[in-house]
Amino acid sequence: MTSQELYASDVGLAVALDLSNLARENGGASELRSIFAADPLSVEWIDDTQAEQLLGLAQRSAEIATLLAGNRGEGVDRAAGLVNVLLEEFPAQLHLTKEPEGWTLHRHRRDAPLVPAWSAVVAGAFARVIGDARWTRVGACSGGECGRLFYDLSKNRSRRYCSLACQNRSKAAAYRLRRAG
Ligand SMILES: [Zn+2]
Repeated sequence: MTSQELYASDVGLAVALDLSNLARENGGASELRSIFAADPLSVEWIDDTQAEQLLGLAQRSAEIATLLAGNRGEGVDRAAGLVNVLLEEFPAQLHLTKEPEGWTLHRHRRDAPLVPAWSAVVAGAFARVIGDARWTRVGACSGGECGRLFYDLSKNRSRRYCSLACQNRSKAAAYRLRRAG
């Protein structure tokens, strides 16, 4: 499961987790622009003030996603509390637009300001994950020091690594350890 596949199935959640990882890795405005690359209009709108606000959203996302990846009831309760604060601060404005593939429901109007709109999208994505009891699918990479957050779409919920690179690195390390022992 790559981040691209998650983008195809749930853009809000993909952005929420990308923002979370950006905050964990102390990324800045250029990394922000690559997260929103799929939405050129958003990238065009990101100025210094908005970048700062989006990095704030990234920090809050990281806190929520890390609590969910901890996979413990009490952490999820705290995450739900943080999501509720976001939902209240950035209420969704459900809005239908006619797209080539038919009528599509959006959480904000097309002309909505960038940061509140994306904040509502991210809050809504986390809210659905918690409300549908899918939070067990939010995980943290167990490859060495990595810890990148991901969403596990595998059938048996067995995913442990953020990427093939981390998986291969861990396999190689385990192999070296066995040979050394
Ligand atoms: Zn990793």
